[in-house]
Amino acid sequence: MKKPTVTVISLGGTISCTPAIAGDGVVPTLGAADLVLSLGTASDVDIQPFTWSTRDSSEITFAELVDLAAEVRKQFDAGSQGVVLTQGTDTIDESAFALDLLLGIKHPIVITGALHNPSQSKSDGPANLQAALQVAVSPELRDIGTVVVMNDEIHAAQWVRKSHTSNSAAFQSPGVGPIGWIAENRPVFALKPIHSRQAPIHDATGAGNVAFITAVMDDTPTIVDSILSLGYKGLVVDGMGGGHVSGGFSEALAKAAQSIPVVYASRTGSGSVLQSTYSSPGAEVDLINHGLIPAGSLPGLKARILLTLLIRSGATHTEIADAFAAHGRYLSRPAHHLNPESNYA
Ligand code: GLU
Repeated sequence: MKKPTVTVISLGGTISCTPAIAGDGVVPTLGAADLVLSLGTASDVDIQPFTWSTRDSSEITFAELVDLAAEVRKQFDAGSQGVVLTQGTDTIDESAFALDLLLGIKHPIVITGALHNPSQSKSDGPANLQAALQVAVSPELRDIGTVVVMNDEIHAAQWVRKSHTSNSAAFQSPGVGPIGWIAENRPVFALKPIHSRQAPIHDATGAGNVAFITAVMDDTPTIVDSILSLGYKGLVVDGMGGGHVSGGFSEALAKAAQSIPVVYASRTGSGSVLQSTYSSPGAEVDLINHGLIPAGSLPGLKARILLTLLIRSGATHTEIADAFAAHGRYLSRPAHHLNPESNYA
């Protein structure tokens, strides 16, 4: 029987690292073909290696992810049955969700990496890549979308988070858990995310960056004015608890929300932001009345990804509010003082 073809696209990161020629530490140097070689010769899949870049994942940009998504679609159209992406683990929680939004469930990919580089005895790259290949050819993935496979666990892009600096088990999905795992070299899918998202955001080729701030005790709200003056097109605030800020911060955010979309999430990292429980200055009722958009169940980092791609695709304020409402199962309430048709590109 013909083996399924899987494209392995490499972007650098620890899985690609080798000792630096001068000095201490390691740097990404290996390409996709090198990573495939680390698996040995026997494989259930026919692997097409594709070296995209050899960089740290801190260098990945939205523009690059839009191009990468186009390449992934091209690989599927050319006959690949699956696509695996290897990259540095520092930003997997962000790039996975961006690619999930850009590709939708029709072109799902599997992202993996390593916490320990190939020169270390506990190097986890080959095992992670092997597991990712097995997941990439699973028919179940067509209903799920982009996933992250690390340490024999399968995590949905929407929930996964790097939760440890250096442990092989660094990836978790707080409040949800992995949606599956690898058992005896086979993927087992236990859960299927309920998707309430709209169509994939294909055309996010516009400009515009979204600022991300965490609300902290006794901070000065002037930071919000600085964000406006720096030209950001949107703002995500990782609020305290259910999505709260101080009263002074709320006033500054209200001013910002007159000109750019402002989304509030929760710095707790799991659960949904509140929408109708507290009404003190800076609590959710106050924030919504000032035109802020609840992130729903999306953690702040993921909310920034969604807002950036929406702004870059020219979405109107109503479309932005609706997209977040879909993630929170909330009714979208257009801010009364904003033009619902305005966009921010
Ligand atoms: N510099 C790495 C990165 O590109 C470190 C983390 C890793 O790959 O595990 O994210």
